[in-house]
Amino acid sequence: MKLYLLISGKYGSRVVNNLAEHGMAGDIVGMEEFPEDLPDFIEDFARYVPQNLPPADLIVAVGLSGDINMVVPEVARKTGASSAIIPVYDPQQMPPGLQQEIQEAAPHVNIVFPKPFCSLQAMGDPCIDEFARKFGKPQLVIKADRYIKKVEVLRGAPCGSTNYIAKGLWSTPSEEAELVAAHKLHNYPCNASTSTDPAVGDTSMHLASYQIKEAVKRGLGYAIKSAVVDPEKCNREKCQEECIKSCPQVLIGLDTITLRGDKKAFIDPATCGYCEICLKECPLDAIEIKNGPFPLE
Ligand code: SF4
Ligand code: SF4
Repeated sequence: MKLYLLISGKYGSRVVNNLAEHGMAGDIVGMEEFPEDLPDFIEDFARYVPQNLPPADLIVAVGLSGDINMVVPEVARKTGASSAIIPVYDPQQMPPGLQQEIQEAAPHVNIVFPKPFCSLQAMGDPCIDEFARKFGKPQLVIKADRYIKKVEVLRGAPCGSTNYIAKGLWSTPSEEAELVAAHKLHNYPCNASTSTDPAVGDTSMHLASYQIKEAVKRGLGYAIKSAVVDPEKCNREKCQEECIKSCPQVLIGLDTITLRGDKKAFIDPATCGYCEICLKECPLDAIEIKNGPFPLE
């Protein structure tokens, strides 16, 4: 696969270094770096489109904020790329209107906007899926008894945080590993914003921590904590399924809350970040946070 990168700032550089270090150096056919101090509103973004672009399959734009992201459709057109990834780490960086504008400017390019980058998963596009086999939503293999003995990264966050966290988990008590991983993410220079994104009702930083916690849970085979629905109280005839509508994980595309065959809500402990948003939204007080362990399938 031929990968062309558009980057800006330290975050962009960190992602490039991590991709190169972990197996993608041979795929990168070119890169353009933009200054960090470009204005959010750019009238004539065409002048920022790089010259002499090589043929490419996939464009990845990392760390670009505001209108400069509008170069992506033009770079895709000039390189012949069929797919593009523009990760969203801050609500100001990529307002919904701009996202729509980018999509409309490139109707033949499959553009995804993972929010945040470490939520990226295969989605049926050959180029994006090839990228997502190595980078995106963290996936770990963990050997543990009462303590973590070994952690192998099957898929890491593009910024490198998963490898950093995996190294730091060794000898951690297994039941603390989920929270230690989230804490270590906060220590890493993660670019995810701590501002609440109105589109999902939570911060990108929290969403990033839910992804690494899920990787630890799946690696261990159980979750230590989760929101749980009381089926005796749940009655979707008396609500508008507010839990599903408000769960930030659902709003980024995960099946964290689903309706079971009996039409009662069910929360998946693997992906629940126990943010408590659904607890506040359920009009029947049918949800509470419970300590596990919750075995995962
Ligand atoms: S848990 Fe609450 S908000 Fe969700 S479907 Fe049941 S009653 Fe409705
Ligand atoms: S606590 Fe509720 S809203 Fe938050 S992640 Fe879990 S299921 Fe979703």
